[in-house]
Amino acid sequence: MNNRVFVLSSTKKPLMPCTPARARKLLHAGRAAIYRRQPFTIILLERAAGDTQPIEVKLDPGSKTTGIALVADFLCGRTVIWAANLHHRGQAIRSALTDRRAFRRGRRARKTRYRAPRFLNRTRLAGWLPPSLRARVDNVRHLTTKLQARAPIASAAVETVRFDTQALQNPEISGVEYQQGELAGYEVREYLLEKWNRTCAYCGARDVPLEVEHIVPRSRGGSDRVSNLTLACRPCNERKGSQPIEEFLKGKPEVLRRIQAQARTPLKDAAAVNATRYAIGEAVKSVGLPTTFWSGGRTKKNRVTQGYVKDHWIDAACVGESGAAVRIASGMQALTIKATGRGRRRVQGNDRFGFPRGTPRSAKRVHGFQTGDLAKLTCTTGKSAGVHVGRIAAIRARGWFVLNKHDRPAREFRLLQRADGYDYTNDQPSPS
Ligand SMILES: [Zn+2]
Repeated sequence: MNNRVFVLSSTKKPLMPCTPARARKLLHAGRAAIYRRQPFTIILLERAAGDTQPIEVKLDPGSKTTGIALVADFLCGRTVIWAANLHHRGQAIRSALTDRRAFRRGRRARKTRYRAPRFLNRTRLAGWLPPSLRARVDNVRHLTTKLQARAPIASAAVETVRFDTQALQNPEISGVEYQQGELAGYEVREYLLEKWNRTCAYCGARDVPLEVEHIVPRSRGGSDRVSNLTLACRPCNERKGSQPIEEFLKGKPEVLRRIQAQARTPLKDAAAVNATRYAIGEAVKSVGLPTTFWSGGRTKKNRVTQGYVKDHWIDAACVGESGAAVRIASGMQALTIKATGRGRRRVQGNDRFGFPRGTPRSAKRVHGFQTGDLAKLTCTTGKSAGVHVGRIAAIRARGWFVLNKHDRPAREFRLLQRADGYDYTNDQPSPS
């Protein structure tokens, strides 16, 4: 089953999202019209109101991708009715700013007029975030607001920390014991992943499945305390078996020393609280939704115990207490949303050394079109003949636009929806 379709009443009040099949029926019967193509939304032409149930928006913020899931309580249980993976453009922002900084520095090093020293005169407002992280926060806030206008959303749940320090309560000291499969066990695992940098403590392997390892083996009286735990890859774990660590690492005294030192040092609380994730949580709260904050350990437990595969939107659906039992229809596909930005403010392009190249841009809008607009291209001649629907990749002042690599004159384009800073794919094809 696919994402449900957003439904607005004739007065634009958000109603319960309906199935694509029902949306098709309503559209064919003339009782509804397409309101927006992306994300697909219909508007009822006759009904001004309808019954709604509270929907929860759930978010799993990540550095590159944020998972979003809308969950509703149905008679058959809590169900995911709409999901999306939102891809941020942090790296693009970062590299653009890095380039700009390099150009500026190069310019200053050239033979130029005298400039008075200017430093120590910058201030940063409280809550400042680097632009690439700020974009992530703004993306999530923006989409939450958008969803609020499309569906009767009553609450939000956000994963803001990797592991729950509250649940662990100073894990190294109070001795939360590790038990596979329990919530505290999952929190401990996330804690260890952070503490040991997601690598095998013995061989340094990365991006392999890591197992929780007892430094002093349990068979030799080692405890389940966090200070006696580390992470090891399968081969290392098996090779070590129940040997004492001194024997296992006989030939590598420096590794032994490092592991013993690291095991004794508790991880600072700060490691769990990622500034961006926290800012995202606060941003969601600021749109006026009752918001709950949850840990990654809980998300993982919910996902693993329900046997779901890993994906950003599935993680989002499994966030928090309400994620312990949530139905995801088999074969459900999430919408892919890519943050594209709303174009540059820069008028003059430059080469890789920062020197002006080409002619300055004369207009952001040409014949009412702008880069990023969703349009329909109807072409009767040439190798582009046919009907194409998509995002306009480029507009040119001379009146030719590019869509799906077809370079065609403006008169062949029809505007379907204005650019909103995002590119949507895998959404329902328009029924007409
Ligand atoms: Zn290893």
